[in-house]
Amino acid sequence: MLIDTHCHLNAAEFDADRDEVAARARAAGVGVIVVPGVERAGFEKVLAVCQRYPGCIPALGIHPMYVDNARPEDLTVLRERIVQHRPVAIGEIGLDFFVPGYDRERQEFYFSEQLKIAVECDLPVLLHIRRAQDTVLKFLRQFRVRSGIAHAFNGSRQQADEFIKLGFKLGFGGAMTYDRATKLRTLAATLPLDSLVLETDAPDIPPAFIGKARNSPEYLPRIAETLAGLRGIGAEEVAETTTANARAVLGLI
Ligand SMILES: [Zn+2]
Repeated sequence: MLIDTHCHLNAAEFDADRDEVAARARAAGVGVIVVPGVERAGFEKVLAVCQRYPGCIPALGIHPMYVDNARPEDLTVLRERIVQHRPVAIGEIGLDFFVPGYDRERQEFYFSEQLKIAVECDLPVLLHIRRAQDTVLKFLRQFRVRSGIAHAFNGSRQQADEFIKLGFKLGFGGAMTYDRATKLRTLAATLPLDSLVLETDAPDIPPAFIGKARNSPEYLPRIAETLAGLRGIGAEEVAETTTANARAVLGLI
């Protein structure tokens, strides 16, 4: 059994065939799918999708690329939804200094406020980080959240080690299926297996083996095989260990 620790199954790209996608993922052995929210306007859909499909569990949060439309009262709504629905994590939250014209101050405000909520509610966080690894680490040392996942990890080995020291797992998915991603593939091959979790980030980050098609959680087993191949171990060991890692970090029984 595999756990997709990051999949936007609520995205509009799945509106036409979500039932079939969820069924195929389940049939392929993906037993749990974590569906993170990205903005207040989408919380209800995330919750509804997770109610409809067995094995789908919600996370709620405001994504750094959505802070332009966010308002401080969204944080109040987030708190209310957390108390009401007990999502598995706060996410997807973080910092993205790659997007053109980003508002650093605004991103840092929403990120730090959500870290405070995670501490208050004793929930792990799902982190989106681009060009901001060290700044995120600085915030994590300040706010001391319980744990979490650095989703679609793309930092250095040294930064990976710092996340691991703070009790975080690192999410690996479609990006490591590309031959040219040599730095990332080296990390996937050499980081301790007990610090890694699998994800698709579907419908985004299509793995190399599907070309430019829409990504889907049903491809997670092939992503697991890629990781097994890079590490020279069996897919079974990858499945068992990454599933145990995801359960531990997310507090799943
Ligand atoms: Zn995402």
